[in-house]
Amino acid sequence: MRDEPLNPAAPSSPAPGALVDQYGRRITYLRLSITDRCDFRCFYCMAEEMEFLPRDHLLSLEECLRVIRAFVDMGVSKVRITGGEPLVRRNALWLMRDAARLEGLRELVVTTNGSQLERHAADMRAAGVRRVNISLDTLRADRFKTITRVGDLSKVLRGIDAAVAAGFNGIKLNTVMMRGVNDDEFIDLAHFAVDKGIDLSFIEEMPLGEVDRARAYFGSDEALALLRPHFELVSSEETTGGPARYWRIPGTRTKIGFISPHSHNFCDTCNRVRITCKGELYPCLGQNDAVSLMPALRAHPGDDAPLRQAITDAMGLKPKGHEFDPQAPGPQLIRFMSMTGG
Ligand code: SAM
Ligand code: SF4
Repeated sequence: MRDEPLNPAAPSSPAPGALVDQYGRRITYLRLSITDRCDFRCFYCMAEEMEFLPRDHLLSLEECLRVIRAFVDMGVSKVRITGGEPLVRRNALWLMRDAARLEGLRELVVTTNGSQLERHAADMRAAGVRRVNISLDTLRADRFKTITRVGDLSKVLRGIDAAVAAGFNGIKLNTVMMRGVNDDEFIDLAHFAVDKGIDLSFIEEMPLGEVDRARAYFGSDEALALLRPHFELVSSEETTGGPARYWRIPGTRTKIGFISPHSHNFCDTCNRVRITCKGELYPCLGQNDAVSLMPALRAHPGDDAPLRQAITDAMGLKPKGHEFDPQAPGPQLIRFMSMTGG
């Protein structure tokens, strides 16, 4: 399904002063983590005992809105709010509502673990969120508890139903592929998505953060081969400028995606940057270079020029590509996924 512009007045042509990196890639997509906190502790994402940042180290929600506004003014048309778990941040809906009103923003989307969706889905939809991604690695309650360490599957399933009822333009489940953990459920998860009339993306596990990653890596091609005997999969032309490739299942509303940072390099068309909850702008998820936007935000509360300059300067740091190696031992990046946002 193609999204209509979020704001009908939004211009579709490139804004003046649009962000272009040193390799000529236009940056049109911002992913903003609004908290490092989470009500789950997924073992591939976080350590069991996590130390979270003190509140004053985080971007305030007003600062988040300032950052989003600056990016939208510089030609960014799609913003994803993520975390940690974005819905555990108090007043996250205020941010969604105000961001959705920004002229020039065409798509406001949210990534969530689904635990709070039963309560918030309708309000998020009303606030202007067009699409949601919901993480779901298993359909088995005991396994869900093992993976998330603390999560309750039934709550998430009710959250998914609430999202379907809220009438989002798109709902996508995200499943991290883990050999020996959930690789026997990929077919069931795909049937589940078809039954709900929603999409499903399988994600290759990335080596972020110091967590135990003893299991062997599971690649997209192997998952595709697993699904093929069970579903007719028709390659879709759809692209997000990111690492995902999509397949339609004819006769259903479901698309199956594969997010393959390892096996299919996508860096040539990368259109995105990420900002952590403490205001660090990462031009690439797979590299350590970052620029802190905090000094520009806090030293110049009434003037966005230094903020815009810091953003423009950071484009010079965007590398040609990431250097993840799925076979290498140990974490290749020390920061956790929950800091940068998935
Ligand atoms: N808490 C929300 C959620 O779980 O959807 C949003 C943040 S979470 C960091 C975003 C996505 O990143 C989730 O789909 C999660 O499964 C994925 N993720 C976390 N750690 C990952 C890793 N090491 N490799 C691949 N995906 C990961
Ligand atoms: Fe929380 Fe999402 Fe990380 Fe799981 S993947 S611990 S839900 S931030």
